[in-house]
Amino acid sequence: MARVVVTGGAGFLGSHLCDRLLDRGDEVVCLDNLVTGLNANVEHRFGEPRFSFSRQDVSNHIWVPGHVDTVMHLASPASPIDFERIPIQILKVGSLGTHNALGLAKEKGAKFFLASTSEVYGDPAVHPQPETYNGNVNPIGPRGVYDEAKRFAEAMTMAYHNHHSVDVRIVRIFNTYGPRMRPEDGRVVSNFVTQALLGEPLTMYGDGSQSRSFCFVDDQIAGQLSLLDGEHSGPINIGNDQEFTMLELAEVVTKVTNSSSEITFAPLPVDDPTRRRPDLTEARTKLSWKPMVDLETGITKTAEYFAKLLKI
Ligand code: UDP
Repeated sequence: MARVVVTGGAGFLGSHLCDRLLDRGDEVVCLDNLVTGLNANVEHRFGEPRFSFSRQDVSNHIWVPGHVDTVMHLASPASPIDFERIPIQILKVGSLGTHNALGLAKEKGAKFFLASTSEVYGDPAVHPQPETYNGNVNPIGPRGVYDEAKRFAEAMTMAYHNHHSVDVRIVRIFNTYGPRMRPEDGRVVSNFVTQALLGEPLTMYGDGSQSRSFCFVDDQIAGQLSLLDGEHSGPINIGNDQEFTMLELAEVVTKVTNSSSEITFAPLPVDDPTRRRPDLTEARTKLSWKPMVDLETGITKTAEYFAKLLKI
């Protein structure tokens, strides 16, 4: 049994991670400032002896008494609408927050796990994206606040590894979806699924020919735990390598929700990546992990969650 600190533990991915860690017998200290995280994501764990929640802003300071085996740093708003709404908080949690989380790991002699992102590849000129690709990021564009903070976070993590001998893992997370996304999150899956359930038009940005590769949350968490438990530091891509255009995604969503929603077109956001698909060779060979959930199955589970949440 390990004692694991999860920053951003009340967020979408963080809360699923807390669940899996608790389910396998670990002790979890969940830290969150609840800027985008929600009490509702973790309250089913309140009262369990191996779970504690502490409302802290990791960009300012982290306080965790007692021994710690692992620090998993997932705290960060991650939706493009947040990049415009709270850009400075995003820059701070990726830089200062990562520094604080690494400081905690160093002080406790703990393993450090960084949630990085496919956004380090920017609008990729190489397709699919292997970990060796250094990316194509516009530092001063609207996504720069997130992309550059995560690139800095990776650099800081490797510096602590090389300079302070901290044992580290870095995951590059590709588009992940599933229950506990916020309906107002602004990302494409939560938007399309809630719109389809409510019978509202699906908001297609651009002509819908841009692509993404969508990973169901259970696969994502299983991949992260394989990385955490293995010997390989990464960075390593975790996602699903089945690629879809946004028009194809809209079709899947309307089919599984049995919706008659139309599509309405809106301008493509600035610097919106044209295509994205992980090269999963490293994950498959080094972690013996692969995604298992296909898009239709995952969207069905996600739609069930939103239907319940929205009382439809
Ligand atoms: N998108 C869309 N309609 C929406 C929300 C997003 O067409 O209501 C598009 C967006 O422009 C992008 C893709 O869907 O091309 C994925 O967007 P998301 O915000 O989910 O993730 P990211 O761009 O960070 O991969």
